[in-house]
Amino acid sequence: MRRGTFNRGGRGGGRGDYYKNKYGGRSSGGGGRGPPPPSSPRPDTSSSGTVPQAYERPIGDNGGTHKDFIDLLRRLDQKQYPAYRDVESTTKGWLNDMEGYSLFIGKAQSDPYAKPTRCRVVVANETAKFPPVSYQNKVRSVALGDYLNRVFFDCCKQMGADVGAGGEGGSNWSGPKGGDIEIAKPTQHVIEQSAVRILQNGDICAQFTINLPARGRSILGHKAVQIFDQTLPQLIQKALLYEALDSNAVTRHVLNVEDQEWIRANLDMRGLVAFVPDGAILPRKSGADDSPMEDSEESGQKVVRFHSPDTLRVSFDLPNMGKTLAGIGIRKGITLIVGGGFHGKSTLLEALQVGMYNKIPGDGREFCVCSPNAVKIRAEDGRSVSEVNISPFINNLPFGKGTECFTTKDSSGSTSQATNIMEALEMGAKTLLIDEDTCASNFMARDDKMMSLVHKDKEPITPFLYKAKTLAKQGISMILVVGSCGDFFDIGDTTILMDSYSCHDVTARAKQIAAANAANAGALAKFKAPFGSVTPRCPVGQAFKPNNKVAVRSKSIVAYGDVELDLSGLEQLVSREQTNAIALALQRLAALAPGSQATIFQILTHLNEILDREGLDALTSGQFDGSLARPRVFEIAAAINRLRVDGSFVQLQAK
Ligand code: ADP
Ligand code: MG
Repeated sequence: MRRGTFNRGGRGGGRGDYYKNKYGGRSSGGGGRGPPPPSSPRPDTSSSGTVPQAYERPIGDNGGTHKDFIDLLRRLDQKQYPAYRDVESTTKGWLNDMEGYSLFIGKAQSDPYAKPTRCRVVVANETAKFPPVSYQNKVRSVALGDYLNRVFFDCCKQMGADVGAGGEGGSNWSGPKGGDIEIAKPTQHVIEQSAVRILQNGDICAQFTINLPARGRSILGHKAVQIFDQTLPQLIQKALLYEALDSNAVTRHVLNVEDQEWIRANLDMRGLVAFVPDGAILPRKSGADDSPMEDSEESGQKVVRFHSPDTLRVSFDLPNMGKTLAGIGIRKGITLIVGGGFHGKSTLLEALQVGMYNKIPGDGREFCVCSPNAVKIRAEDGRSVSEVNISPFINNLPFGKGTECFTTKDSSGSTSQATNIMEALEMGAKTLLIDEDTCASNFMARDDKMMSLVHKDKEPITPFLYKAKTLAKQGISMILVVGSCGDFFDIGDTTILMDSYSCHDVTARAKQIAAANAANAGALAKFKAPFGSVTPRCPVGQAFKPNNKVAVRSKSIVAYGDVELDLSGLEQLVSREQTNAIALALQRLAALAPGSQATIFQILTHLNEILDREGLDALTSGQFDGSLARPRVFEIAAAINRLRVDGSFVQLQAK
């Protein structure tokens, strides 16, 4: 391979040769024997032979040059829409040697109203020229890809490239429409995604969609030429080449994200499950806007930055930023967050529950990190449950309904919360995050007076309060927001008080109060029995038959065959792109779980290893899908667990 033998200088110089060697190309006179692009997919273009057009497919199956491509678009002008199939790429793509990239076009949309057409651009490292230090390990490469996704998204907006020929509101049937370019919308989180990735050799791979332009049902070839010959190359130049970017901002983004990851990786060793730095801004702008809250003179709103109590302060020396970051270290064990209503308890927990994801610099929650194995637990009445052993918490349901293989299509607040805990433990959760605002109160605690009235035999629930200590003994940590029930003082290792958004260590006082209430301690002694056990379950492959009908409606709603999957209870699912990836995983579930021998933990651990190795492309079948972000195994499992299909699980038989 003639790597590095071509001119690295000015625009266009020698890039053509480079590309021809690398990806092959018609213009080199039957060359095209070069290796395929890295992780090059093989889109299914078999259907293109059926195009009812009276002219020959000009390029054949080996791709062509950018000029070939543009000529083709010109010829397609005024043709019937399905003729767009001729632009679909095979493994070679369309080579733009002047601009230094290859364009791949997936299965062309069948009409102007169908889902827009997926495209992939691969800019070679020799053109993109990102310094290898900016992507030399996984974290950096994810951070850089994330940064480029953001720039690409912003450029699309600035250039108006995201607006179709029909204008903002589209147009009527016979008017011009389409032409808009769309890339996945970034969130406050920096998560491995498929919109822009850095390949191992430094090539930049961007995936987005283009709505192929039309008027009525005839192709607007000249509009297409404008998009592919001007808009797209401009966009690539502005967003995907190192020289076009603010190199300081790139470096800051990448190193900041790596430092966040570093703190998270060090939590366990330091005996911590979470960390919140002094100065962090935890509250968000609104329930619908995840950016940081700002001071507002209008409403008199003032943001209070986080400040850690002296007694719980720890510090980290950040390897990249070369500074020491101090803040609260939340230790393993049971931590209680108490305080009056509206004093910032839930806001603190909500920051922690997304602390497994890195944030963009400026988010206010960067360096606010949590163990990656932390799972938010809440009540979710109405959810379906399949074969879960919830007996550690619930027994003797009315009419003898068993709880060791609990199955229902409509669970109650308490049974759903018990289920959520048992399923999280089944998947290896090590920290549980619980907020009383979203709990079933009868599941959390029961007071002495109630116990006197309702005999234990008539109450199926052993409240969480009485199980938490034995669970903690098994190595499970908990962070609990409990503003309403002082009985929790009996079990808390650390108690934090939120008072007007400022954080205090009230552990000693809480322990005193607990000690002064001996009666409670006596009640607690009754519940020192072992926690009980988690019964592993195996998904039953045959049960998962959506007949290829899995469609993501929104971040929290997926149509799965004939049933609807509701993910709105999963507060740690943070983007629609994660849901898209989950939907693809669900589609492959029958293949992943052919028999009923492997447990859901084993299957998803295996899937996770594949994703580590091959990236998100492992979920697609080479369709240039730029709409994916990496979900955690916990959320994939949670989706499977909530599917309303009969016989989805069997319990693993003890040998
Ligand atoms: P609690 O759970 O204690 O009832 P929340 O966490 O829900 O309280 O917070 C109540 C309100 O205060 C929310 O609107 C939130 O946005 C706001 N808030 C939370 N933390 C802060 C802060 N540090 N500075 C300013 N406002 C805050
Ligand atoms: Mg609250």
